[in-house]
Parts: sequence; C-alpha cells; structure tokens
Amino acid sequence: FERKKRELNINLNDVQKRAVEQTEGPLLLLACPGSGKTTTMIMRIGYLIEEKKVNPRRIKAITFSRASARDMMERFKRFFPDCVPVDFSTIHSLAFTIARSYLEKQGTTFELIEGGGKQKQSRTKSFLLKGLYKKVMHDDCTDDELSALSTFISGIKNKMIPLDRWDDLVGPFERAGRIAQKYEQVKKQTSGHLLLDFDDMLTLAEQALKEDKELGDRYRNKYDYILTDESQDTSLVQHKIVEHLVVHHGNLCVVADDDQSIYTWRGAEPDYLLEFKKVYPNAQVLMMERNYRSSKEIVELASKFIKKNKKRYPKEMHTENSPKEPITIKQLDNPKSQLEYVTYELLGEDRLNEVAILFRNNSSSTMYVNELHRRGIPFYMKDADDKFFSHWIVEDILNFMRLSFNTERKDIFAKIVLKMNLFISRSMLTQFENTETSGNVFDAFIKTVDLKSSQIKKLKEYKDVYDKIPDMRPAQVIRIIRYELEYEASLKSRAEKFGFRIDSLFGILDILEGIAAQLRTMVEFANRLKELEQAVQNAKFNPPENAVTLSTLHSAKGLEFRRVFMIDLLKGIIPADEDEGDIAMLEEARRLFYVGVTRAKEKLELLSYGQSEGKSKEDSKFVNEVRSLLLKPNKLQKEQQPVREAKASIPLNPNGIQDKKELTVGTIVMHRVFGQGEITKQQGREIHIQFGKVEKRLDIEFVLSKRLLEAVEV
Ligand code: ATP
Ligand code: MG
Repeated sequence: FERKKRELNINLNDVQKRAVEQTEGPLLLLACPGSGKTTTMIMRIGYLIEEKKVNPRRIKAITFSRASARDMMERFKRFFPDCVPVDFSTIHSLAFTIARSYLEKQGTTFELIEGGGKQKQSRTKSFLLKGLYKKVMHDDCTDDELSALSTFISGIKNKMIPLDRWDDLVGPFERAGRIAQKYEQVKKQTSGHLLLDFDDMLTLAEQALKEDKELGDRYRNKYDYILTDESQDTSLVQHKIVEHLVVHHGNLCVVADDDQSIYTWRGAEPDYLLEFKKVYPNAQVLMMERNYRSSKEIVELASKFIKKNKKRYPKEMHTENSPKEPITIKQLDNPKSQLEYVTYELLGEDRLNEVAILFRNNSSSTMYVNELHRRGIPFYMKDADDKFFSHWIVEDILNFMRLSFNTERKDIFAKIVLKMNLFISRSMLTQFENTETSGNVFDAFIKTVDLKSSQIKKLKEYKDVYDKIPDMRPAQVIRIIRYELEYEASLKSRAEKFGFRIDSLFGILDILEGIAAQLRTMVEFANRLKELEQAVQNAKFNPPENAVTLSTLHSAKGLEFRRVFMIDLLKGIIPADEDEGDIAMLEEARRLFYVGVTRAKEKLELLSYGQSEGKSKEDSKFVNEVRSLLLKPNKLQKEQQPVREAKASIPLNPNGIQDKKELTVGTIVMHRVFGQGEITKQQGREIHIQFGKVEKRLDIEFVLSKRLLEAVEV
C-alpha cells in the first residue's frame, strides 16, 4: 500500500492518513474543495481491501450521480488496477434495489413514471402533474410551473414531511401542496399496482428498511463498510437510508463540504452534517483544509470569496501549490464575441480534455455546440440538453418557415395562426379548418372567417411579408418572423397571460438566429438543427477523445480541469433574478459560483459581456466582487483578441479559402475569429479586411495556410 501511494505520487498528509486508516466506526470528513476528499475515500477503500483484507463485495461506495460513480470507478481502477472494484453507485440505484425487493415481497407490481424510457406518455410524471394542475387550478400548466411543481414535490418528499402537512406548505404557487397530495393518491389508485417516481424509491426504501425486519437485515448484513461522497447534497431520506444500513456496525465514512452544497432547492440537507455527532455520538470529525488541486491564485481567491457566506462551517482553505497564471476577468462586447473569444482560445489548446466551459444554465450551451461542431472542435457534454431542439419555440419557427414554401398549406397555417399577434380564437380556426377553401391561406382566411378590420389589415400585411421570404437567408427570416410577423409581440402577450419567463423564450430565438447566421437557406437551417441534435447526442453518449467539456456548474461538481472558462456571468443569471432578496438562495448561488471557481487547476477565466440584442447587460455581482478581491484588480477591459497561431493539431476548415486568387477586393468573407468582413485591399503580402468598424491587415500566406477565411455568398 505504501509503495502504491509512492507510485501514484500521492503522499497522504496526516489527516488523510487518519481518514484512511481509521476504518472502524463513524467518520465525518468535512473538507475544502480539492483537499483530496474523493482521493482519500478511494485510498480508504484500497486500504480496506489490501491491508485489512476486506472482501470488496462487502464495501459500498455511494456517489451523488451516475457520472460521479463512473468517475470514481475510473479513479479506483487507476489507483488499484489489480483490485476487484467495489460497488460504486448512486443512492437512487441502491434505493431502487431495496424498494423493488420490498414490493416484490408484498406482491405489488409497479411501473416507473420518470426518467425516460419505455413508459407510456399518459403515465409520465409530467403528464400526471399537468392533468392534476388543470383539475385543481382550472388552467393550463406552463413549463415553468411544471418544473417548479416537480421540484417542490421532490423537495418535500426528500425532507420526509408527512403527507397530511403538505397542504399547509408554502409552495411555488397557491395550492401546489394540494396538487402534490393528489399526485400521491393518483399513483396509488389501483390496488396491488403502483406508479413510482424517483423520489418514491427513496421513500419506499427507507420504509422497507425501517418496517420490514427480515428485508432490512438482509441489506444491513450485506455491507460491512459504507462510504458516501459529496454528502452535503444528500437529503434527509437518503441520510436515513444510510443510517438504517449501518446500524449493526457503524462503519460509515461520510465525506462532505458544506460550502459546496448546491442542491438544497431539491431537498438536500447539509445541516444534517452539523448534527452528525448527535446521530453518531462516537463519530470522529476530521477537517482537511489544504487544497492540492489549484494554483495559489485560485485558492486564495476562492477562500476569500466563500467567506462572505454567513451560514457555513468555518474553514481556512490554503495551499502549498505555487502561483500559476493570473485569474482572467473579461467583459466581452456581446454573446458572439464571448463565443469567439472562447473558441479562439480552444483552437490554441492541444489538450482539450483538460479544459472545461462551465455555465449556470443549460441554455448557454447550444451556441457553443453550434460553433464547436462547425469548427470541428471535439466536445463532451455530461448532461447534454437535447430538449432545446424539440422546444415548441423551435417548432414554431420551423412552421413559420415551412409556410413560406407553400402559402396554400392550410395544415401549416393552422399550426401558427394562433401564434401570430392577431388574437384569433380557436373557434375561428376550427371554422376555417372545416370550410373548403383554396389558394393563398391568408386570403382564404379573410374570406372565410368573421374578422375585425384590424385583424384583416394585419393578415394582409403578413401575406405581403410572406411574399418576400422565400429567397431570404434564414437569419433574416427569423428576424422577420420575430418583428414583422410579430411573433415576439404575441409571445409577450401570451407570456403575460400564462406567466412564462419571456427572457428565456427570447433567448431561444437569439440562439436560433445565431445558428442561422452562417447558413444560406431555410432548408440548410432545418437540416442544421437536426445535425446539431445528433451532435449533442453523440457528445453525451459517444464523446470523442481529447474533447473539451461543456457542463453546467451543478454537474461539474467533484471534477477538475487545468483550464476553466466560466461563461455568461451576468446579473440575473448568477445569482438568478429569483435568488435576489432571499439570503439562503443568494448564499447557495455563491456556493455554486465557488464550485465553478474551484474546478480550475491552473487557469481560471471569468467571462461576461456588455450587451445582447441591443440591451446593455451588467456583470454578475460575484464577478465584481472577484475583481475587487484580486490583489491587482484587472481593469474592465474590452480586449482585442490577440492574433496567435492556431496549433497544427486543430483541424483546418475544409471550406476555408486556399487559393490567393479568391481573395479579391469586394469579396465578403467569414474569418474564424473576427467574423464577417469585406476585403478592401490587397497589398504585397497583406490583405486588408473591414470587420464592422475595424479594419484588419492580415498576412495572406498565414490566412491561406490556416484556412482562416471562408467566402460568404451574398
Ligand atoms: P472536490 O471537493 O472538488 O470534490 P476533493 O476534496 O474530492 O475535491 P480530490 O478530487 O480528491 O479533492 O483531489 C483533488 C486533487 O488533489 C486531485 O488531483 C488529487 O490527485 C490531488 N491530491 C489529493 N490529495 C493529494 C496528496 N496528498 N498529494 C498529492 N495530490 C493530492
Ligand atoms: Mg471530490
């Protein structure tokens, strides 16, 4: 074991050593990011097997997510290639096994209603919740309400609040507690058969361990040692399951960092750790404060930053690591320049698998996916957001476009007329659909349906707009749909009525425009969306080697990268608007930011932008704080991108101009970094290109050999 540690170049410090060797009895390891919690946990498992000769099958390691189970398994195999690996799994999968035995024993059948897969559409959690919402509220449930409701239910079940008290709870909206109660009933309607969501597994497993002595003992006798990582995000019901399992031996090692607790909104119970000694009076509590992961700059900044939280277990994170690179804070002009900056930097990286782009919201990823895919930069996404491509806004835009190919298509018209800013009612539409008509749909609609003069006027205008669409580039068409066909205005009025978050909807339109920007036709655009959806699937299930990681801050927990870009660090995003005014939520937002910062080993870049779609944007207050925390505050710079040679390992753009003859004055080109410009002059070894307001002189040979320019047809 000693030799192994030397080989791995890991010289355990005193506390780590104690945590490894103190195998018997309860142990809480409360420690800073990068202090070796996960490493220690793996070493402890290795020590149990190699030194204490414990059968690996009698050790259970519980991780937070399936991804971290995989991550830990890989680390374990790297450390102990000759050992039979122990069982690394999530608490959910353990709970599922227990719950299944319990139900089988009782002769109860069940079906899962969450998590995708085989279940019928009418038997999914969202479908049931939507139906109950309608029954109780006499209205349709919006996407935002649905997800809030689902999180609320998850939270109360994880907190083990008894069903009869749900009604009194303050939920995301009035009567959410009532809907939640009904949801519980609906799932139990037929006797001998249950509908189960993920949280039910936990509840059932806990109940089984508590009430069924025979079954409980079976699982209690199954493991002699239990270890749980990232326990700051463990909920009460999950803690209880663990408590039941260790009753006989008390050999429990709990590893946590309360400063990285980022799931309280889903019912995580970090306070439990502070009570650990009450539950396990003979517990040892160890602290680890030395960070082995990050450079001095990063550790010092992070440590100062997290101390602003009032509610925390005091710790002093420090490091012996040397300084590496200064922390970068950049406010770029707009989302596009931020994207260009990041991609340009990636083009200069050989080892992309050591780099991550982290964001607060999944919606940030789509623009990056588009750009990385276009440039052939390999990427990996752990929790890819493929829902974007099936969002109803995306469907709407495609339908608006489809109609332009044939303005006689009643079926397509029917899909979008209610989405135009016309206040057409469903009954008017039905009347139209039931009447035999021919020719242009706008004319036919005016002829068939009894309309106000203002509606007729608009329909005529829309018809004229449609006449000019077919030859246009897709980005322009999207703008026309937004403004001339008034899709945005209608979204706004519907948002008011149904309470959507309008910013996120407009954000989707911006992303679509971004994707369309480099394309020539609407067909190309539709195909591109398909292609990207596929690319996202691949990035998730089939990631290429040496790929840059795209991840939300939440999913990046526990991981480490040499270089980290944190993007879209804006006011309203982190902290989110809904965090403002709530101290607990602001503290959680700070912890989330802290998780991001502490992922970086050598280089941390905090990025934001000054405006988007003509609206000016403010930096996240966390960014401002970091600015003032840094010893020599970086000035707020709108930096020029440095011209730097892209490394040869980066694939060249196959459509890039290779022949000098194509570089004639007047040609419109797309530069892989500077964007679209016009060639204004050719002089000796240089060409001059006007990019917006800036003219750049570029070395012709360099530009050709790196295929930096692509011709754009106008
Ligand atoms: P997080 O809170 O982010 O999950 P952690 O506390 O689990 O972090 P680890 O991921 O285990 O930290 O370790 C961080 C890094 O420090 C890893 O690269 C690990 O190899 C290294 N490390 C940990 N302990 C030591 C040690 N004693 N000597 C050298 N390197 C170490
Ligand atoms: Mg860890």
